[in-house]
Amino acid sequence: MKLNKPHIIGGGYTGHIGLIGPTIIPFQGACWNCFERKYKNDLKDHHFDILLNTRKSSGAVVFLSSIIANIQAWDGVRVITGIGSPLMLNRKGFLDLDTLKIDWEIVSKDPNCEVCQTNSYDKNN
Ligand SMILES: [Zn+2]
Repeated sequence: MKLNKPHIIGGGYTGHIGLIGPTIIPFQGACWNCFERKYKNDLKDHHFDILLNTRKSSGAVVFLSSIIANIQAWDGVRVITGIGSPLMLNRKGFLDLDTLKIDWEIVSKDPNCEVCQTNSYDKNN
């Protein structure tokens, strides 16, 4: 957001879950802060603590990372060339390697997001 550059996220965790997306296009779709605001809002009526930026050591199998990387590379080609809209804009998927099922999560741009609704990024942020 600070550099106004698209960024694409993907990876694997807990050994068998692959994270597909999101693709963040600054000020066009949901930003990381929009995702965080959604999670906090979803949990506001629950008595859970939100754990952010916790570091746990668990690996991901390389072929899972390869699957995710290829999907994300396709979104990168779409972003760079404009051949189509980014498929992971405003969403991310969780690929379960045990079943190959993908659970999709949709997160819209939050009209009250203090980061992406300003059309600029506070460089002190
Ligand atoms: Zn936002």
